[in-house]
Amino acid sequence: MVNHAKFMQTKIGKMKIISWFSGGVTSAVTCKLCVEIYGIESCRFVFMDTKNEHESTEKFIDDCSEWLGKPIERITALGDKYKTIQDVWIKNKSLNIAKGAICSATLKTKLRLKWQRRNEYDHQAFGFDISEINRAKSMVKSHEEAKPIFPLLMFGMSKKDCLKYLSDAGVQVPEPYANGFGNNNCFKTGCIQGGIGYWQKMKREHPDKFEKMAEMEHRLTDIKGEPVTMLKDQSNEAKLKKCNLVFLKKHPDYPSVLTIDDKKGREPKPLMDCMGFCGINDLDKPKTAEELNFQGNLFK
Ligand code: SF4
Repeated sequence: MVNHAKFMQTKIGKMKIISWFSGGVTSAVTCKLCVEIYGIESCRFVFMDTKNEHESTEKFIDDCSEWLGKPIERITALGDKYKTIQDVWIKNKSLNIAKGAICSATLKTKLRLKWQRRNEYDHQAFGFDISEINRAKSMVKSHEEAKPIFPLLMFGMSKKDCLKYLSDAGVQVPEPYANGFGNNNCFKTGCIQGGIGYWQKMKREHPDKFEKMAEMEHRLTDIKGEPVTMLKDQSNEAKLKKCNLVFLKKHPDYPSVLTIDDKKGREPKPLMDCMGFCGINDLDKPKTAEELNFQGNLFK
């Protein structure tokens, strides 16, 4: 298991480290490792608030602030233009676009870029775990100005290791983890990057959330005049068809478009913590990216 790295503090001296906290376990442990490596005086912890997290996330933020020894700062892109994450989807008539999720790009990527221009740092720490080495390489190449560091990779840690680390420290993780979701991303609505297995589980266990997102797909479809879905079918058979989109529930105007009920039951795939890099210039696509519905170019 991980050794504390206090010896490095004397070597590294005082640096300005921004560690991004997403509300998930990997970013929480990343923040803690930054404290151990650089010292608490050198660290700031920043949470990009979509106001769409599971209610247990509030307690997790408070518990982590205490555990880390400093309050986690909150910033948000919500305000005049977009009051809610639903506004982002509706005003853009979109859920996913070619380079990732529209909400992630709007409420996280753009916000972080704006924030980093106004704040000083020597490095920004991101909670990529050992399964995300290629994403880390991509981040270094495409976001050089962030001076990214990846403490979990330094210690070879997986998401499972992070769960154990928090459990050993007595920090209770947000409820969705305990309920088998493997992530805590935007659980108030459910995450649009969730994939077929995730949304099948959501339908079984949280039918109210499922219904609202199914209605959102239909609403966006009606506004846009063509199917807008979170998911698409990647089977070879589906690829041969004109449309391989998958609705959460049947849309009366598009009876030939499949729904998740037409797909074999599957378990949710692990999701990365949403820090605004959903599929953006990644060398590896996120595991659920193959199930996503891409609609055009993010920056066009
Ligand atoms: S966690 Fe999911 S729903 Fe929330 S901003 Fe990221 S991609 Fe969008």
